[in-house]
Amino acid sequence: MTAEPDTTANLEVLHFAYHLNRSIWNMESGQQSSSPTREIRVELGSVTYPIYIGTQWLGGISRVLQRDARDLSHAMVICDASVASTFAELVRHSIDALGVRTDMCIVPSGETAKGVSQLTRLWDWMLTRGADRRSIVVAVGGGVVGDLAGFAAATYQRGIRLVHIPTTLLAQVDSSVGGKTGINLPGGKNIIGAFWQPLMVAIDTNTLGSLPRREFASGIAEIIKYGVIERPELFAWLEEHAAALLSRDAPAVTHAISISCLTKAAIVGEDERETSGRRAILNYGHTFAHAIETTAGFGRFLHGEAVAMGMQMAAACALGRGLVDREFVDRQRHLIEAFQLPTRWPQAEPKQMLVAMQSDKKKEHGKLRLILPTRLGHVDLVDDLTEDEIAAAILDPHQEGR
Ligand code: NAD
Repeated sequence: MTAEPDTTANLEVLHFAYHLNRSIWNMESGQQSSSPTREIRVELGSVTYPIYIGTQWLGGISRVLQRDARDLSHAMVICDASVASTFAELVRHSIDALGVRTDMCIVPSGETAKGVSQLTRLWDWMLTRGADRRSIVVAVGGGVVGDLAGFAAATYQRGIRLVHIPTTLLAQVDSSVGGKTGINLPGGKNIIGAFWQPLMVAIDTNTLGSLPRREFASGIAEIIKYGVIERPELFAWLEEHAAALLSRDAPAVTHAISISCLTKAAIVGEDERETSGRRAILNYGHTFAHAIETTAGFGRFLHGEAVAMGMQMAAACALGRGLVDREFVDRQRHLIEAFQLPTRWPQAEPKQMLVAMQSDKKKEHGKLRLILPTRLGHVDLVDDLTEDEIAAAILDPHQEGR
């Protein structure tokens, strides 16, 4: 029995599909399939593209590519070293079988790969492999490879086609959707970049099987974020299904990814270039998180761990302002803790973090703008917080002193 693709962009369908797919999955006990079972569309003013979601279907990626990519004559698979011999090889093999010329380039794992030297290496490699405007970059890996390969695709010959195959939970629920690509400079994270929308995002939840526990939990922080900023029913679902999600139960993982992609696609669809302020709500917890990552030293915390602490600090600010009540702060904290993510950083130095927050690129006209919750499922932009209010939230994100 094979699950029919859900025509999505509709929350009710996804909730229904969760229960349906649970029983289908139980019957099939996770057989190999050759096509995705979900399709969510990202609809932007100028372009629209699909996010395909399924389990154990990457081996059939060539059929989807053949259908969606016109004149496919050359594929350049750019992959993270951790998935080179597994998922990237599967993808390369599948495209190769079409008779399409396929090249593969392995990028070292880790954030340091997202810099000028790997970018230059990729540009040179693309040139020597004879890449042209009909070639396609296929990025296989987490957010690092997605951002790096995406930027290489955005800039080579003024832009060539890109396919994202995200293999971390964070990349599947966040970084592969929305078209932000870029690299770091020694003095600034994501400081060089471009908006470059992919031809498609192809998500196979089976890739998450080899992901270390901390990396998996890190991705969940972004899913919790969607619950807080926009989807109270997702938040409640996470509360109820934390154990299933943590144990990587396939239908639960597919459901969480689907709702997350649907949420991000809808927000990006309303504000592709982050001009109206709508897309800025995705930064909930992130200004604190970037300051945590900067002052702790990159690598000490995973991005999602910093986001988890950042969301709790933002909630504490909101409580201080009377925007939310105590129940909200406790409920968010308990959900974050249920996924074994941190909610506070006892070693935080508010003064240093404030300096880092001041240089955050989300600051506008000299004002620090923070996204704060006003109730579950709703956030507002607040730009008149004092340094004392922010420092109090950093020091006591649980607001136990209140
Ligand atoms: P990552 O790409 O570094 O991957 C995390 C780790 O998992 C790496 O060690 C990698 O080698 C390993 N890995 C990847 N897939 C694996 C698999 N299937 N099995 C085992 N190991 C695997 O990190 P990430 O958390 O995916 O992404 C973080 C990056 O994403 C940051 O650079 C961040 O700036 C960026 N980001 C971008 C956006 C965007 O909109 N473009 C949004 C959020 C984050």
